[in-house]
Amino acid sequence: MDCIFCKIANGEIPSTTLYEDDDLRVIFDINPTSAGHALILPKEHAASLLEYPAEKLGHIFEIAQKVGKSMEKGLHADGVNILANCRPAAGQSVDHFHVHVIPRYANQPEKDALVIETHEIPKPDLDALAKAIQENL
Ligand code: AMP
Ligand code: ZN
Repeated sequence: MDCIFCKIANGEIPSTTLYEDDDLRVIFDINPTSAGHALILPKEHAASLLEYPAEKLGHIFEIAQKVGKSMEKGLHADGVNILANCRPAAGQSVDHFHVHVIPRYANQPEKDALVIETHEIPKPDLDALAKAIQENL
């Protein structure tokens, strides 16, 4: 399989590595949202978080927490976004599960801001939405 994040995670393509263990590698995003924007790449291929073994997610997010705290301490970030896009419809552009850890700075220019836009949509039937999700949990 020709997956660039498999190759980076497993060291076949060299990268600046912030942290590595048996399960994952943490690198810088090539096209950062802010200075220090990091990606956590599991070494095991999964198309997205939705396919990754649930029992291994805890470790990924432990490391996300560690990296986020280090960004507050070491980069003087004022906060962090920790997120995973799943599927192209949700903005996923690389088909290998990764978690973004994005340091945020109180004084950062507006152009760097990560904005989740909200839209006016017809008032949803919350009971029907809840039922449709609950039935599939
Ligand atoms: P997503 O849109 O959530 O799939 O995020 C993919 C991220 O991977 C984007 O922010 C890209 O800038 C980043 N990216 C793509 N190719 C590379 C690469 N070779 N090295 C580091 N980051 C990359
Ligand atoms: Zn992969």
